[in-house]
Order: sequence, then structure tokens, then C-alpha cells
Amino acid sequence: MPEAADLERLLRAAGLRVTRPRVAVLDAVHAEPHLDTDALIAATRARLGAVSHQAVYDVLRVLTHRGLVRRIQPQGSVARYEARVGDNHHHLVCRDCATIVDVDCAVGAAPCLTPSGDAGFAVDEAEVVFWGSCPSCTDKPTPVHLPSPSPAGPHREVRRDQRARQEPHAKHQ
Ligand SMILES: [Zn+2]
Ligand SMILES: [Zn+2]
Repeated sequence: MPEAADLERLLRAAGLRVTRPRVAVLDAVHAEPHLDTDALIAATRARLGAVSHQAVYDVLRVLTHRGLVRRIQPQGSVARYEARVGDNHHHLVCRDCATIVDVDCAVGAAPCLTPSGDAGFAVDEAEVVFWGSCPSCTDKPTPVHLPSPSPAGPHREVRRDQRARQEPHAKHQ
């Protein structure tokens, strides 16, 4: 975790004046990734004492704009912030509990995906979200809120295998 002096250096390098709210918000974002605004307001207050919602919103906007903080917003989620910027990493998001995990970009350089057609756009970023179930949600016996799909158990697999094995016969004249 960066020291206050490091955070101040980051602010100055981004052309920003050092203020206590900016240092506190930046510190909170560095302390834990993917927090939403409410959590960051609480974390900033823990560092600074009284500070208004609006002040934290304003600081987050400035920090995001200057590239010190990255704002992500997976579908169905409120905006979340992280200090890991500029490395083109992606996110794994659990559909069940909304856990968000960083994952390195498989290719490395932004934009890591090339669209099949760019329509004349100068593309500089591809945002990739991998949706699924996190390990602890996968382990739960019955996720009640999921629409129960038809069971795809081992029996079905066996049956499909048998059908596949019979296919060559069907092609006989
Ligand atoms: Zn989960
Ligand atoms: Zn992240």
C-alpha cells in the first residue's frame, strides 16, 4: 500500500493539487479494489472524519478523469473504482454474489481484441467481462434464484455419447 507521500506524488504527477480529501479517497481506492461509492465514502470518512458525499463524488470524478483511478461498472452493478490502472486487465464477475476479481489480459496490450470491423473508429480499448459463478457459489448445492435448467448430469452425457457412436451406422446406404 502506498504511503501518503507516494499518493501525493501521484496526484502531482497527474497535475492535481494535493488536498486531504484527494489523498484520503485515493488511499481508500488503493486499500481495496472494486469498492462502490458508498463504501468509499465510509472509507474516506474513516481516514478524514466528516466529508460530504458530494466531495467524495467530485474527487472520484477528478481522479478517474486524470487516470489515477479506473471506474468499472459491470452490468447490474453500481460503479466501482480501482487503483490498478493502465494495464488493460479484465474482470471476472459472479452472477450470483457479484464478486469481482481481476484477471490479467490474455493478450496484454489495449485494445486486446480486434473488432471484425472498426467502422473507421480508432479503437483504443476493449472492455472484457467474464461472467460466471465464483468458487463459493459453484459449491452451493442449489442456487434457488436461478431458473433451473434441464439437468445436464452425467446420464445425459452418456446418452449423447451413445447417439454419437450410432451415427456412422445411420450414414450407411
Ligand atoms: Zn459468487
Ligand atoms: Zn480490477
